[in-house]
Amino acid sequence: MGFLGKGLFQGMAVTARNFVGSYFDKERMVTVQYPEERVQVPENSRTFPFLVFDNTADHMRCVGCKICEEECPPQCIYIVMDRDENGKPLQRPKVFDIDISVCMQCQICVEVCPFEAIKMDNNYEKSQYDRFDDLVERLPDLLKSNEYYNHIKPAEASAVDAKLKAEADKKAKKAAPAKAAPKPAAPKPAAAPAPVAGRLVIPEDAPFTPEQRAWLAGFLSSAGAVAGPATAPVESAAVELPAVEEAAPDTEAAPAVDTPWHDPGLAMPQRMDLAKERPLADKLMAAMAQTDCHACGYDCRGYADAIAGGAESDLSLCLPGEGETAGMLEQLMKEAGKV
Ligand code: SF4
Ligand code: SF4
Repeated sequence: MGFLGKGLFQGMAVTARNFVGSYFDKERMVTVQYPEERVQVPENSRTFPFLVFDNTADHMRCVGCKICEEECPPQCIYIVMDRDENGKPLQRPKVFDIDISVCMQCQICVEVCPFEAIKMDNNYEKSQYDRFDDLVERLPDLLKSNEYYNHIKPAEASAVDAKLKAEADKKAKKAAPAKAAPKPAAPKPAAAPAPVAGRLVIPEDAPFTPEQRAWLAGFLSSAGAVAGPATAPVESAAVELPAVEEAAPDTEAAPAVDTPWHDPGLAMPQRMDLAKERPLADKLMAAMAQTDCHACGYDCRGYADAIAGGAESDLSLCLPGEGETAGMLEQLMKEAGKV
């Protein structure tokens, strides 16, 4: 049976019960003397992102791949990758800013990071006097230790630690037999086909760098001409299409526009299957993680082309692809007689 003001009396009864009860039961004490006392926030509460480092700040997990920058919905992350004097990426950020006046605390940056490098903090004391520059958190402000992460989110952080340890153990296991086993002899590169009269050749004194010459050779072979040393003059400007079996090995063909394997959701065997009939540069691209994250200093296409053209010799730069990509790149280069 209701009566006028019943809800008011019920509310007052709850207040009175908590007021009296708080003298006897700590759980009923819903307020604390802030800032002297602070309420312990739940583990899954979140405020703004921070960057995790292991041991010392030099060992930050972030490789500056910019995936989080690209995926952040309000675009409040700004990253510049650190590079050495030759312009080679050092796989760490030089600049990493987050504008927390724009951040909407969605945690998408955390979800997309392949390196467990960015996590959500639960520190809510972020007020500043200047509402512009002071609300942009810079790299030194963002870096926090793994111990801190374990302290604020023990369950989540220990699961991440276990995952990283399992990955490291797996990598070490894979590397151990590879180190012990003697290196198999690299297959000899196939001899270049002799130039055939009537087909286009690249004269030896043509003003090309080795990379340009290699690219041009691949392009001509994919266009149907045979490229080789200038043992015969160019007989005709027109390119004759040779029979398929006479074509030079198709290794450095011009980049294909159609790249159906360019999907990070596809597993390595699927990607390699899609690229199996393609030139070497495409196969190399299919071996990449397909994230276009620039951790290697290129996008996936650029890194593959640089390896195929001889401009890049380091096969271990694809960080999201890890050992799987490095192993496949090495295998492809061996099969092509390039290592
Ligand atoms: S995705 Fe992770 S590793 Fe890449 S830049 Fe962002 S925090 Fe760093
Ligand atoms: S929590 Fe969301 S809005 Fe904030 S930095 Fe991460 S992705 Fe951007």
